[in-house]
Amino acid sequence: MEYKASCYCALTSYEVRENYYYTYKGKIYVKYLSDIIIESLKKYSSEILGVCIVLPAIIDNVNRNIITMVLDMEKNETFIDDLRDYIPQQYGLAFFNDTTSLAYAENTFGSVESANYAYININEGVGASYIHDSKILRGTTGLAMQLGHMSIKKDGVPCSCGNRGCLENYIGELSLRSRAIEYGLIDKNFDSDFLFRDLEEMSSKGDQKADTLIYALADELSDALGKIIVILNPEIIVIGGIGRKLGEKYLNRIQANIKSNGFIQFCKNINIKYTKLNDSAIFIGAAKYYIDKHFDFSRNAEGDLFLS
Ligand SMILES: [Zn+2]
Repeated sequence: MEYKASCYCALTSYEVRENYYYTYKGKIYVKYLSDIIIESLKKYSSEILGVCIVLPAIIDNVNRNIITMVLDMEKNETFIDDLRDYIPQQYGLAFFNDTTSLAYAENTFGSVESANYAYININEGVGASYIHDSKILRGTTGLAMQLGHMSIKKDGVPCSCGNRGCLENYIGELSLRSRAIEYGLIDKNFDSDFLFRDLEEMSSKGDQKADTLIYALADELSDALGKIIVILNPEIIVIGGIGRKLGEKYLNRIQANIKSNGFIQFCKNINIKYTKLNDSAIFIGAAKYYIDKHFDFSRNAEGDLFLS
């Protein structure tokens, strides 16, 4: 499998100055990654206030471990400490989850004026993050808000997390092909990917089976959101990721479901919308959180390590 690592340089003005893509195969090696980072540090040395690593993974701050079902890493258990050893000590080093970074960017750079909101990231799988009182809700070890692994079918399909019937195995893009077969949109011999954009295109051309599947995906997400709403009482829910390609029918259905089926006191004023930010929000969100919550201009950052 081939991966792309990207390296962004974001300034305190929260603009992306440069971005590079590095293609690599197989495992992620700490030495390879740190060499890339050190090159940027040399280039911008005096302007850099810290290094933020953003990963599609859970950052376990108690065991200093990376938990990922997506990345193939050289050594998950020592990745954090190994990188800290390689990156020059005068720079603070912070690790962030990708969805968390996107979530935090919404408050400052997006259209969210709230200290309590959820961000749902619908891609191949489903990620989620909750900003509580302007801080990331992490739980005991950083595992909070695993919405994609909330079971919606007790005897459903087994998931790599060990559970059954996890939401992301029904509404994530990786499962869309099998859902499209189930709903009679494509034949089981269909020999290509079937993506959110393909489903939306069929729907926009008037295919009623496509509408039915969009509504099913929306209904399943709505059920999970209903549980989040009664537990956490968000003011806003922002939906990001490629799931947005499902368009207005998907979003309108979710909004209608929550308004009509939810606990009325929680749901009557809740605002559910798509993000308006682009992909670079992931980096400026991490940079903003680092400056807001971790970095202290009045002290030396020597050897600092933050697991967010
Ligand atoms: Zn799962």
